[in-house]
Amino acid sequence: MIPISKPIIGPEEKEAVIAVLESGQLAQGPRVQEFEKEFAAFCGVEHAVATSSGTAALLTALLAHQIGFGAEVITTPFTFIASANSILFTGARPVFVDIDQESYNIDPEHIAEKISPRTKAIMPVHLYGYPCDMDAMMDIADEHGLAIIEDACQAHGATIGGRKVGSYGTGCFSFYPSKNMTTAEGGMITTDDEEIAERARLIRNHGQSRLYHHEAPGYNFRMTELQAALGLVQLQKLPEWTRKRRKNASYLSQGLTNVVTPKVREGYGHVFHQYTVRVASDRDGALEALERAGIGARAYYPLPVHQQPLYQQLGFKNSLPIAERMSREVLSLPVHPALTQQDLDQIVSEVSKL
Ligand SMILES: *Cc1c(COP(=O)(O)O)cnc(C)c1O
Repeated sequence: MIPISKPIIGPEEKEAVIAVLESGQLAQGPRVQEFEKEFAAFCGVEHAVATSSGTAALLTALLAHQIGFGAEVITTPFTFIASANSILFTGARPVFVDIDQESYNIDPEHIAEKISPRTKAIMPVHLYGYPCDMDAMMDIADEHGLAIIEDACQAHGATIGGRKVGSYGTGCFSFYPSKNMTTAEGGMITTDDEEIAERARLIRNHGQSRLYHHEAPGYNFRMTELQAALGLVQLQKLPEWTRKRRKNASYLSQGLTNVVTPKVREGYGHVFHQYTVRVASDRDGALEALERAGIGARAYYPLPVHQQPLYQQLGFKNSLPIAERMSREVLSLPVHPALTQQDLDQIVSEVSKL
């Protein structure tokens, strides 16, 4: 079976983790700080705040922007549930805007019509590792005085005109094992805003400014030294892995003729967290056929957020036709850096039979 994703752990990661175990310092300490410094530099921002997961990063970022009861946050329905749930957990309400069918990302054209006096922020999601149209997003945010919280959980190192995602608004990253780099579980917030970084640090650690002195309500969303040690090694390897993902994606796009392959706009640096195609009919049948042929293809995501049972109970209506259609037509093929040439040829050959 060719898996849809595969964490790559080498001897360097093992040594780094053992060194932490032997150091005696396991909870948040100097390695977390070093990982934050390196990740901030990687994204081209001033500050990075490490968290226990991508979901914790999203919730912390929203809270740092003082988003809560009575507020609305505009986001996409075509994403992993954590994007919208993090908004719900602040007490605010997600407001879904339909997606663009070429990029699969939130369609900036339809954002303005959903802005109300309660709107406080936009949460674009760089789905599959492909950047949202951030120039359009920044224009809208500036015009209406909104914060931008980027869900970059799938987009480590993705760029527009060389500028990294996570540097436009407050960025949120995940290091879950299926992502482009991993710390097992883990997350990161990136920002140029010192005040947001400071609040995020407080929220992450019980609102504690110095030992047993608590200024704000906070959680325990800290990253461990073990995670940071993994992250420091993985971050070094990420550029090479991204090159491989892009190479694999371009090989697939050259070979596949019977499906709609990903489009990459001029100046956009896609990092291919997923390589996602559309099939004309019977997507679920295609997934089953690929599974039988040993290819771990998956539908990301088979049900948009507003159609999930929870959101139906909360009264969200089925009225986002492009997201609803894409959720029935898309499938993602393995594109990760551990694929061999033989794997790639097998994927092309099996997809061609669909
Ligand atoms: C993975 C992911 C998250 C959540 O990250 P965790 O580290 O699993 O909490 C949020 N949003 C998107 C788009 C993701 O892909």
